[in-house]
Amino acid sequence: MQDPKPVRVIPDHQRQEVIKQYQILDTPRLAIEAANVGTWLIDKTTRVFITSPRVKELFGYESEVDFSFDVVLTCISDKYRDKMVAGIEDTFNTGKTYHIDFLINDLQGRPLRWIKAVGGLYKDPEGKMSHISGVMMDVTEQKLQELRKNKFIGMVSHELKTPLTSLKAYVQMLHAWARKRKDQFTAGALAKMEKQVKKMGNMINGFLSLAQVESGKIHLNITEFDLNELIKESVEEMLMLNPGRTITFSVNDVISLQADPDKIEQVIINFLSNAIKYSPGNGQISISAQVLDDMVEVRVQDEGLGIAQEDMEKLFDRYYRVENKQTEKIPGFGIGLYLCAQIIQHHNGKIWVESKPGKGSDFFFCLPQKADRSVV
Ligand code: ADP
Repeated sequence: MQDPKPVRVIPDHQRQEVIKQYQILDTPRLAIEAANVGTWLIDKTTRVFITSPRVKELFGYESEVDFSFDVVLTCISDKYRDKMVAGIEDTFNTGKTYHIDFLINDLQGRPLRWIKAVGGLYKDPEGKMSHISGVMMDVTEQKLQELRKNKFIGMVSHELKTPLTSLKAYVQMLHAWARKRKDQFTAGALAKMEKQVKKMGNMINGFLSLAQVESGKIHLNITEFDLNELIKESVEEMLMLNPGRTITFSVNDVISLQADPDKIEQVIINFLSNAIKYSPGNGQISISAQVLDDMVEVRVQDEGLGIAQEDMEKLFDRYYRVENKQTEKIPGFGIGLYLCAQIIQHHNGKIWVESKPGKGSDFFFCLPQKADRSVV
């Protein structure tokens, strides 16, 4: 566990002073508490942690108990503790909104409840950034529902995958047979079937990955492979699925990469299929890879719709889709880029986008060329 440095224990008289100082913030608190939501505050200088009675109750304590940040950290499940402390420091340093869902345990370490904490950095009356203040609420029911939904998605996708794999094998066999017999009509129909089966397979794989990510079961099978070869195969697959489109890719030298090839392929396919989906039929699409120091960077460029600044920030969120006149008829679930971000994060990499509405977008990811095996 990381040392809970940001939240200091200070002498009681000093603590009472800070608490008094913040009592002026109490009026909105009362209204918020009526909605069964607790309020909390951390002072920037003293790092005193002040909570309303509802927060104490959420953690299973009597409202009169003196409730320190150390107690909060003891209750939080190991998996979320460091993240919570680091998030607070980050908000103090950058002013970014604080947002975390965490699980609290009972004294035996059994999971009790899911809590959502949201907060922001606020100024004191002199205009200096002085404290993080926010709310906490019990989101156990929503979380359990989400877990049930993810389990359902995982099960359904898994069940659909088995017959689809067998269907794919028969279609490929018949396709080869029709070609051999020079039966052009049947071969043409079977080629179309093969494409649709492939598209459906990609979709099901996306849902399976979503269920894995959501249940924290994403697992990387790290091997060493040639990234350029993987890109070449992905481009071929995209061109097979989207005849008439062009994708520019010039293979340079071998780029050897230690990563999970299936997962990296999933990211590349997602970037490319989005570039196709959100561009006009004659729009140029290109993909390139390069080595920068000990990192590899992949870039997919298109001349499509482009993305507005306010959407770019949320693009990698789960289920986020840009909603406007141009995108309303384009189908999708808003999980592709979320999965890409999760995969790249698991590889200790970075993912980002640069874009101009009406001009096109450049999607990037970079990751270490050599995997850190300790995190796999
Ligand atoms: P989906 O495409 O299924 O909606 P994604 O997670 O792949 O889900 O993408 C999220 C959103 O990002 C899309 O709905 C789309 O609005 C936007 N987007 C993704 N790629 C591009 C692109 N190359 N050009 C323009 N918009 C894009």
